[in-house]
Amino acid sequence: MQNFDVVVMGAGAAGLFCAGVAGQLGLKVLVIDHSDKVAEKIRISGGGRCNFTNLDTSAANFLGNNPNFCRSALSSYTPRHFTDLLQRHGIAFHEKHKGQLFCDRSSEDIIQMLLAECDAGGVTRWQPCSLKNIVFSASSPHAEGIGSYEIESDRGTIRCAAVVIATGGLSIPKIGATDLGYRIARQFGLRLIEPRPALVPLTFDGEAWAPYAALAGLSLPVQIETGSKKAKISFLEDLLFTHRGLSGPAVLQISSYWQAGTPIRINLAPGTEVLQALMRAKASSRKLIANELAQLVPSRLADAWVQAGASAGHDWQRPINEASDKALAALAERLTRWELTPTGTEAYKKAEVTAGGVDTRDLSSQTMESKQPGLYFIGEVVDVTGWLGGYNFQWAWASAYACAQGLAAK
Ligand code: FAD
Repeated sequence: MQNFDVVVMGAGAAGLFCAGVAGQLGLKVLVIDHSDKVAEKIRISGGGRCNFTNLDTSAANFLGNNPNFCRSALSSYTPRHFTDLLQRHGIAFHEKHKGQLFCDRSSEDIIQMLLAECDAGGVTRWQPCSLKNIVFSASSPHAEGIGSYEIESDRGTIRCAAVVIATGGLSIPKIGATDLGYRIARQFGLRLIEPRPALVPLTFDGEAWAPYAALAGLSLPVQIETGSKKAKISFLEDLLFTHRGLSGPAVLQISSYWQAGTPIRINLAPGTEVLQALMRAKASSRKLIANELAQLVPSRLADAWVQAGASAGHDWQRPINEASDKALAALAERLTRWELTPTGTEAYKKAEVTAGGVDTRDLSSQTMESKQPGLYFIGEVVDVTGWLGGYNFQWAWASAYACAQGLAAK
C-alpha cells in the first residue's frame, strides 16, 4: 500500500496542471492514466498548435445547466495567468483570430511545460495504469476528520486523502476517452447532466442533402442561429459544406446549443442586401439568375442554389430579367434565412468536446470539491462546456487551479 495526499485520475490538460500546482504547494501527488501517453488532446488540438486560451474569456462563452458556476474559477485564474506561465517557460505564441492564442511552434511546448511543472512539484506519474476499484472509508485514521480513499489499480493499492477526477469527456474514444469520471460520480451518488457530443458537425438525411452534397469542401462566412425567441443564440463564423452535412466553426459553435428535432437558420450572405441587389440586376441585366447571384456568394453555391430551388418548386434557372419579383424575393429569403433541421451529429468520433457531465449543483464553484468529501472533479468531465476558440482549455486550467488551491487549503 502506497500513501499519497492526492491522486489525480487523468493525465490530460486539467489533470497535469492541477497535479503540478498542488505538488508545488507541498502536496504529495500521484497522477494515474490508462494511456501510456500524456495529454493526447493537447497534442492534436488547434491543428497541432493548441489554441490554449482565449483573451476574451468570460462566463458568457460557456454553457451548462448553471451558467454562473464557472465564474469564480475563471476570475481567479485568467488567460493572463496562463500566458505569464508560458512566458516563464520561454514558449512563443500568437493571437490568430478573435482573441484565440496559439503556440508559434507546436502543442508539444504546452505538454512539456505541464510535465516540467509536475516535475517541479515532485509529482509521481503511473502510466499506463488502470483503476480497478475505489472506496471511501470515513473512519480511516490516515486522514483525520474526513476519512480516506483506497484505490485499487493494476499497479497496486494506494491510500490518499483526496481524489481528483480529470478524465475528460467522451469525445474521440480512439485516443483514450472513457466514461470513468461519470461512473465514479454515480458511484458516490452525485448527479449527472446527460453527456452529449458538442462542437460537432451536423448531418442531414441523405436524400434531402443530395442537392447540396456537390458543395462539399466549400467554405464561406455565414450568420447561423438556433433556438426560439427567448433562447436564441447566433454566431458569425465560417461554414463548411461536407458530403454528409455541415461543419466549420459556425456549425461547431451552434451544435453545442442545437436541440435534436429543432431547426437551425443560416444567412449565407450576411451583411449583403440580397433582394435589393437582385432587383437592381433584374432592371439592368439579361444574365442567368445564377450568374447574378455569383456576384453575392461563391459561384459554386449560386449554381447549386438555383438548382436546389427547382426541387422545391422554384423556377430560378432563367435570365434574371424574366424572373418575377416574387421569385427573386423567395430566392433572397431562402438564401438569407435558410432553415433546415439536422437529422443528427457526427457523434463522439468527431466531437471536439462533451457537453453535460457532473452536475455543478453537487460541486463547489470555489474548489471543485463534490458533496462527497475529498472527491473533486475538474475539466471537461464537469457540466461546463466552452465555445470553440480556446475556452475549453481555459476552463481546464482554471478549474484545475481552483482545485489545487482548495486541496492545499485543507
Ligand atoms: P482530457 O484532456 O481529455 O484528458 C483526460 C485524460 O484522462 C486523458 O489523458 C485520458 O487518457 C485519461 N483517461 C480517460 N479515461 C481514463 C480511465 N478510465 N483511466 C485513466 N485515465 C483515463 N480546446 C481548446 O480550448 N482549444 C483547442 O484548440 C481545442 N482543440 C481540440 C481539438 C480536438 C480534435 C479535440 C478532440 C478537442 C479539442 N479541444 C480544444 C478540447 C480540449 O482538448 C478539451 O476540452 C480538454 O482537453 C479537456 O481537458 P481534460 O483534462 O478535462 O480532459
